[in-house]
Amino acid sequence: MNANLLQTPIAYLKGVGPNRADTLRSELGIATYQDLLNLFPNRYIDKTRYYKINTLQRNSADVQIVGKIVNIKTIEQKRGKRLVATFLDETGQMELVWFRGQKWIRENLKLNVAYVIFGRCNWYNGAFSMPHPEMELLTEHQQGVKVHMQPVYPSTEKLGNKGITNRVISKLIQQLFTETKGRFSESLAPVHMQELKLLSKHEAMFNIHFPKNSELLAKAQFRLKFEELFYIQMQLISKKLLRKQKIKGYNFDQVGTMFNDFFAHHLPFELTGAQKRVIKEIRADLGSNAQMNRLLQGDVGSGKTIVAVMIMLLAIDNGFQACLMAPTEILANQHYQGIKELLKNTSVQCALLTGSVKQSARKPIHENLENGTLQILIGTHALLEDKVRFENLGLAIVDEQHRFGVAQRSKLWHKNEIPPHILVMTATPIPRTLAMSLYGDLDISVIDELPPGRKPIKTVHRFDSNRLKVFRFIRDEIKKGRQIYVVYPLIQESEALDYKDLMDGYESIARDFPLPDFQISIVHGKMKPADKDYEMERFVKGETQIMVATTVIEVGVNVPNASVMIIESAERFGLSQLHQLRGRVGRGADQSFCILMTSHKLSTEAKTRLETMVATNDGFEIAEVDLRLRGPGDIMGTQQSGILNMKIADLVKDNDILQTARHYAIKLLKEDPRLEKPENLIVRHAYSQLVKHKNIWNYIS
Ligand code: ADP
Ligand code: MG
Repeated sequence: MNANLLQTPIAYLKGVGPNRADTLRSELGIATYQDLLNLFPNRYIDKTRYYKINTLQRNSADVQIVGKIVNIKTIEQKRGKRLVATFLDETGQMELVWFRGQKWIRENLKLNVAYVIFGRCNWYNGAFSMPHPEMELLTEHQQGVKVHMQPVYPSTEKLGNKGITNRVISKLIQQLFTETKGRFSESLAPVHMQELKLLSKHEAMFNIHFPKNSELLAKAQFRLKFEELFYIQMQLISKKLLRKQKIKGYNFDQVGTMFNDFFAHHLPFELTGAQKRVIKEIRADLGSNAQMNRLLQGDVGSGKTIVAVMIMLLAIDNGFQACLMAPTEILANQHYQGIKELLKNTSVQCALLTGSVKQSARKPIHENLENGTLQILIGTHALLEDKVRFENLGLAIVDEQHRFGVAQRSKLWHKNEIPPHILVMTATPIPRTLAMSLYGDLDISVIDELPPGRKPIKTVHRFDSNRLKVFRFIRDEIKKGRQIYVVYPLIQESEALDYKDLMDGYESIARDFPLPDFQISIVHGKMKPADKDYEMERFVKGETQIMVATTVIEVGVNVPNASVMIIESAERFGLSQLHQLRGRVGRGADQSFCILMTSHKLSTEAKTRLETMVATNDGFEIAEVDLRLRGPGDIMGTQQSGILNMKIADLVKDNDILQTARHYAIKLLKEDPRLEKPENLIVRHAYSQLVKHKNIWNYIS
C-alpha cells in the first residue's frame, strides 16, 4: 500500500473533521492515519460472558447482564439530580444511575423490554448499581455482529466529554480499514516472518483492533511488540556501530609505568574478580581507536572508585589528562580526598575544582590545566565552565550519571576536537531490560561482586511507636564506638514541612543524646556549602557520633565506622533511594544495620517496598521490584521517558521479546550493516519511513 496514504492528516478520515481532529491530537497525539492505526487497545473485554445479578462481585468492571427496567425515577438531592432505574433479571435486582443526559435517557428508555447492559458495577448503599451503563436492546444485540473481544482504547476525560467514546474510536478505526482497504505493507524481513512464525502486518493490525479469537490476538500482539522493539534496537545498535566507525577516539594503547607501578605497589587491596574484568573491558575499548562511551554499573560499595583511578592512570600513561565529575560538592570532595590518598606515593598531579573553590585558587588550576602539568581534575559542574580548558583531555568520568543531563554530558564532549572517552559510573542498578532499551547504544560494564569480608547489612522495619527501643539500640552502638546516620525525607512539594520534621527530629535526638557525651552533626540542603562540609567533616573524622541529615548524603559519602542507618518516614522514599541510603553503612568490618521507621499507615506499595528492603541487599533485585512497582517512565525520569513511551511493548512484561528483538537486530546489522541485501530491503524501507516520520523516538545522545 502507498505508505503516504497513512500519512494523511486524521481530519480527512470520514467521521473525524477538524474539531475531533484537534481533540484527537491534543488528547492522544493522533495526527495522521498512521497514528490512529497505532493506537493500540489497552485491553479487551470478553463480550461472550453474561453475568447474573446474584453472582455479582462488589466493584467489578466490565459486567454484562441481560434483564429489564421495571421502574425509573428522578431523585433530587442537594448535590444535584440523578436518574435511577430499577433493573431486574431472574436472580435479583440492581440500580442503573445517570447523572448526565437524563432527559434523553428518560424519553428513550423502554420499560419491561429485555436489554443487555454493560458497565462497571459498584456496591453503593447496600445495593449494586451501575452508573452510565452501555445499553442495547436484546433483539438488536442478537442481530449485531458478534464481537468476542471488544478492544478498550486509551481514553481521557476530555475525550469522553467530547463524545469520543471507545465505541467511536472503534468505528473510526473500522473506517480507516475501509479507506485503506486494510492493506498495510509488510515491515519485517522474511527471515523474521519464517523463523518466528509471525502474522503478516495486515493480519496483525486487523487482529489487534478486531481480534477474531484469543489465539490470533496473542499472535498479533507478539508480532507488533516484536516489531516495535526490533526497530528501537535497530536504531540503538546502528547508532552504536556508527559511533564506533565514525567517531574516532584517542588510542590508549600503552600500559605504562603509572598504571603498572600503581598496580604493583600502591593497590591498597586485592581487586575483586569483577573489578579486574571491568578494567579489562574498558582497556580493550580504549585501545580500539573508537571513542568509548561506556556505562559502569556497580552497586554501592562495589568499588567503582579504584576502577576510575586505574583508568585515569591509563590515560596519563598515554599522555592525556583525565577528569572526574561528581554531582555534589561533598562527593567531589570525597573523591578528591580518596584519590589523593590512593595516589599519594605517585607523581600524579591532581586538583579539586568546585563552586566554592576561591577565585585566587582557580587561577593556578586553570593555568596548569592548560599547560598540561595538572593531570587529573576532580570536581562538580564547575568543570563545565568555559574557563576550564584542558591541554589534552582524553578521558572524562562522570559519577552518578542520573543527576547529569544530556546537555551537560555533551558539553564535556565538546571541550576537545576529538571527544574524550567517556565513562559514566552509576550505583543505581538498572534492570537489564531498561539498560538495553535506554542505553542500548552504550557499552555496559557491571561490577556484580562486592569486595570480600563485607557483612550483609541487617535491615528491619520499625514503627514510630517503637522509637524508644530504637534510641536504646543507638546508644548501645555508640557505646561500642560506632556512628549513626538519621535521614529525613525532603520532598520538594512539602519542603517547609519536611524541614520542620528534620529540625524537630534533630531536637528530639539532641534531647535524648545530650552533650557532652554525644556530639551531633546536622547537614541539609539549605546550609552553606562550607557549613555542610564542616559538619560532614566532623562526622567523617569521628568527632560526632550522630549525623542527622536529609538525602544530601544519599550518594557516595564514605564513613566506614558508621554502622547504623536510620531512615525516618521510610514509606516516603522510593526503593532505589532507600537502597542508596542503606549503602552508606556496611562499609567497615562491623555488623551494620538499617532501620526503616514508619507510621502505621502504609499503602500496599509502601509495604512492598519495605518488605523488599528487609528481604534483600541485592541492588539488581531491588531494581526489578522498583521497575514493576513504578514502571519504566517513572524510574528514569521524564527526560528519558520518550523512549520508554512504547505503543505496545512493555519493558516489564516483554523482557523475552526484547531479548529476541535485540538478538535479531544485532544479527542483521552484523551481516548487513547498510541494509543493502535484497532480503533486507523491507527492513530498510520500514526503518527509513519510521525515521522520516519520527515514529522512532528521540534517543538520548
Ligand atoms: P562505590 O562503588 O560505591 O563507589 P567505592 O569505590 O567507594 O564504592 O568503594 C567502597 C569501599 O570499598 C571503599 O572503602 C574502598 O576502599 C573499598 N574497596 C573497593 N574495592 C575493594 C577491594 N577489591 N577489596 C577491598 N576493599 C575494596
Ligand atoms: Mg562511589
